[in-house]
Amino acid sequence: MYRIAAGGLLALVAGIALAQPAPGRGAPPPADRYALIHAGTLLDVPGTAPRQQVTVVVKNDQIAAVLPGFVTAVPDASAAATTEVIDLRDRFVMPGLMDAHVHLQSQPTFARRRTERGDRNPPSAAENTVNAVIYARRNLAAGFTTVRDLGSDDQSVFAVRNAINAGRMIGPRILVSGSAIAVTGGHGDGTPMERTGDDIARITEGTCDGPMECRKAVRYQYKLGADVIKFTSTGGFGSNTGLDPQLFPDEIEAVVSTAHLHGLKAAAHAYSPVAIRQAVSAGVDSIEHGFLLDDEGIRMMKKAGTFLVPTLSASYPPPVFRIPDPPSVKLRNEYKAFERAYAAGVKIAFGTDSGTFDHGTNAKEFEFMVNFGMKPMDALRSATVVTADLFGISAEAGTLEVGKLADVVAVKGNPLDQISVMRQIDFVMKSGRVAKRDGQMTEPFTYPAGFE
Ligand SMILES: [Zn+2]
Repeated sequence: MYRIAAGGLLALVAGIALAQPAPGRGAPPPADRYALIHAGTLLDVPGTAPRQQVTVVVKNDQIAAVLPGFVTAVPDASAAATTEVIDLRDRFVMPGLMDAHVHLQSQPTFARRRTERGDRNPPSAAENTVNAVIYARRNLAAGFTTVRDLGSDDQSVFAVRNAINAGRMIGPRILVSGSAIAVTGGHGDGTPMERTGDDIARITEGTCDGPMECRKAVRYQYKLGADVIKFTSTGGFGSNTGLDPQLFPDEIEAVVSTAHLHGLKAAAHAYSPVAIRQAVSAGVDSIEHGFLLDDEGIRMMKKAGTFLVPTLSASYPPPVFRIPDPPSVKLRNEYKAFERAYAAGVKIAFGTDSGTFDHGTNAKEFEFMVNFGMKPMDALRSATVVTADLFGISAEAGTLEVGKLADVVAVKGNPLDQISVMRQIDFVMKSGRVAKRDGQMTEPFTYPAGFE
């Protein structure tokens, strides 16, 4: 609705400009760009039955129409408009995928190379930024047109998000949390010991103790331009700080309510049943991982509409982290949080923790979901419709309906029969621009005259 209203306003302004031409301001608007996507099979709204032999009409960055049959011309296009026919007649076409949990500033191969070089210092923001450029592109190549970065430094991913949003480079739409909010000594406390006594440094790095500091820590990320607030309410595989609660309820409440005050969603990294219950009670929007989710937590999440972001790719098979005996197998066999949450009808968003493993392999999450009992259609719906709902962007993305952004992916084969085909994304369009065609990234790094 917002986009349509904005378009109406632009038309109004254009009308005024025509009536009273101002000298030197007569540049015509760019001609419309149309793409006619001929889809052999189209899953335009995951959760409903796919259709055969359909044309998706893309006008500039949006879906303009979805028509039966293979249409080859746009009847109402102006003479100046360009029209491209995209032949996906032997492909399965669906909305762009979304990953609710990635870390774009690194991945294990990068960390290993640094260790092998004997690099003792932590990576700089500059190194992280270069990584985020490369890894953002890799996520897009894997079909993920929108990703949510949950935990990075205070510069790198913000800069990459801004460059992509401004059209300066191709990449997925990124929602950024900046630094995760953690308590002193807790999971995600990245403050070096020598700065731990410096309250300002500590808080701006996302580490806080007590409600007032935690409000300030959230507001600092908000001021940086965060789209979402992430906090780490228990330890995890990466920190050797146990799996039990680390925040007091009033600290959790402070984080969640401050995020909501500023219109941001709050995401809780939480393993233990108590920490999950505390976060849900405080009104958190998503539980990340949730490996020890119990029946009471499931009941509460269902009632509150809290999303689970399962990140099965990060937990199974067990990650190569610092915990001497990774508890992952035990977590899966004894608790089966994902299976039980799915069976109970908890909303399950798609999130992988990509960055704790190599970027671009996010789609293996689909196979875990299906192997652990999810219907393939529900897995595809999770990575589109459901995650768009968690992100608060359902009006703009998540399905291929008229007025939504033209984020489109295609695969060979039918993922409803064989989910593993999601690993081989053949075609990617983001906001109406083709980024991948016949399995190859297409967007060249060329810069038109006058490019900022
Ligand atoms: Zn993570």
